[in-house]
Amino acid sequence: STAASAAYEEPITPPVRVSHTQLLINGQFVDAASGKTFPTLDPRTAEVIAHVAEAESEDVDRAVSAARKAFDEGPWPKMTAYERSRIMLRVADLVEKNTDELAALETWDNGKTYEQAIGEVEVLARLFRYYAGWADKIHGLTVPADGPYHVQTLHEPIGVAGQIIPWNFPLLMFAWKVGPALACGNSVVLKTAEQTPLSALYVGNLFLEAGLPPGVLNVISGFGHTAGAALCSHMDVDKLAFTGSTATGKTVLSLAAASNLKPVTLELGGKSPFIVCEDADVDKAVEMAHFALFFNQGQCCCAGSRTFVHERVYDEFLEKAKACALERVVGDPFKKGVEQGPQIDNEQFAKIMKYIKSGVESGATLEAGGERFGSKGFYIQPTVFSGVQDNMLIAQDEIFGPVQSILKYKDLNEVIKRANSTSFGLAAGVFTQNIDVANTLTRALKAGTIYVNCFDVFDAAIPFGGYKQSGQGREKGIYSLNNYLQVKAVVTPLKNPAW
Ligand code: NAD
Repeated sequence: STAASAAYEEPITPPVRVSHTQLLINGQFVDAASGKTFPTLDPRTAEVIAHVAEAESEDVDRAVSAARKAFDEGPWPKMTAYERSRIMLRVADLVEKNTDELAALETWDNGKTYEQAIGEVEVLARLFRYYAGWADKIHGLTVPADGPYHVQTLHEPIGVAGQIIPWNFPLLMFAWKVGPALACGNSVVLKTAEQTPLSALYVGNLFLEAGLPPGVLNVISGFGHTAGAALCSHMDVDKLAFTGSTATGKTVLSLAAASNLKPVTLELGGKSPFIVCEDADVDKAVEMAHFALFFNQGQCCCAGSRTFVHERVYDEFLEKAKACALERVVGDPFKKGVEQGPQIDNEQFAKIMKYIKSGVESGATLEAGGERFGSKGFYIQPTVFSGVQDNMLIAQDEIFGPVQSILKYKDLNEVIKRANSTSFGLAAGVFTQNIDVANTLTRALKAGTIYVNCFDVFDAAIPFGGYKQSGQGREKGIYSLNNYLQVKAVVTPLKNPAW
C-alpha cells in the first residue's frame, strides 16, 4: 500500500539555487520599503527555502507608479507592435534556455513533480510565443454607420494592469496574465501567491534580459490582505485580473468597485463533474478520471472532483479506480517516476484532511488512502470515496486535494441535473463513445470548458474561464485580448458623402 512505501527518505537536493528574492520594481530588484521579508517553504519538509521581500501598500504604490510612467510616457505602448512581439519572443527563448533551473525552482517552491514542471516551462514559452504572435495583429474595424460619417474603432491598451495569481500553477498563471497584457501594450503589476514567489521573479529577470523597458513588468511578492488588497483598491490601476478562490474573488471585485470601478476578470474555484457514460471503455475512463482529479496533487481549479459513473459500469469502475489510486506513486517530486508530490502548505493539508474526515463521517465509503503519507512535509495518500451523495460536503466544496469522490447515476437527464446543481461552472468531463450523448452533454452542461474523452488540455489558443461563481471573462486564446483593450470609436463627418 502507499502507507508501506512511506519510509522516510532524505529529500533530494534541488538542482538550482535561489537567485532572486527581492521585488522587481521599475526594472530593478529592490527590497521592500519596510525592509520586511517572509519565508517561502519547501512543501516536502516545511523547511525554509528563502526569505523573500514582503511588499505592502507602499511598495504597491511604487510599482504602480513605475507601471503608470512606463505606460503614460512610453516607450512600451508607443513602440511598434513588432518590437513588442520580438521582446516577448526573446523571453520565450530565454525561458527555454533555462528550462531545467526554472522547473527545479517551481518544483522546490510548489511540490509538483519535476517532470511536470519541465512540461509547464515548455508551455510557458509556448504561451509567450502565442501572445507575441498576437501583438502585431490587433486592430480595429471600419464601421458602416447610418449617415455621412466615416467610423472606425481603435483598439488601445487599457493602461496599468494589476494581476494576482495563486500558487497551484505559478508559472502558467503568470503567463496567462502577463502574455496578453503585454502583447496589447499594457504595463503590469503582478502579485504572486505568498506560497510560491520564486519562479515569477526568475522569469521577471528574463524579461529584463530580453530588453523589456523598466516599469513595464513589475513583480511583487506579498500577502493578499496587504499587498493584494492595496493593488485591488489602487486608484491608478486600470484593470484587474485575479485567479484564486471564489471567496477572495468576491473581495477583489468589491475592492475594485469601491475604488475606481476598474474592470475585473476572475478565474475562480470549481467542482467539476466528470461523467462516465454506460458505453464508456471503462479502463480508459478510469485512467482519465484519475488524471482529471489527481493531476497536480488535486490542486486544480478545474479538477474533475465529482466522478459520476453510470450504474451499469459502476462496480467495475470503482474496483479499477481504487487500484489506480493505490498504485499512484507518492514521494519526493524530484525523484524520477514519482507521480504525486506534497500539497502546497500546512493550511491546505489540514483543510484536505478535514474534508476526508467529513467524507467518512457523512457516510461515504473510504476505498483508498485517507491518511497522511510519510512523516514530514504535506504529503497525502491518494484517496477515493465511493457511495458519495450530492448533499455531502465532499460533493459540494472545492477540496483542492487528492480526494476522488465517486457518485452513481441512472440516466442522462438525472446526471445533467445533478452535474449542474452547483454554484460553480468551470469545467466538465464527458466520457462516451456515443456522439449523440456527447452532443447532448456538451450543450446541457453549464461550464466554461467541456472535455470530451480527454481532460486538462491547456493549449494557449483554447479559452478558459467559468460560468456562475467560477468566474467572469475568459483567459487564453483570442478571448483574453479583449480583457486588456479599450475600444475607441472615432466618428468623422464625410465632406462629400456622394463619394
Ligand atoms: P486565495 O484566493 O485566497 O489566494 C489567491 C491569491 O489571492 C493569492 O495571491 C493571495 O495572496 C491573494 N489574495 C488573498 N486575499 C486577498 C485579498 N483580500 N485581496 C487581494 N488579493 C488577495 O486562495 P488560497 O487561500 O491560497 O487558497 C484557498 C482555496 O482557494 C483553495 O483551497 C482552493 O480551493 C482555492 N484556490 C483556487 C485556485 C484556482 O486556480 N482557481 C487557486 C488557488 C486556490
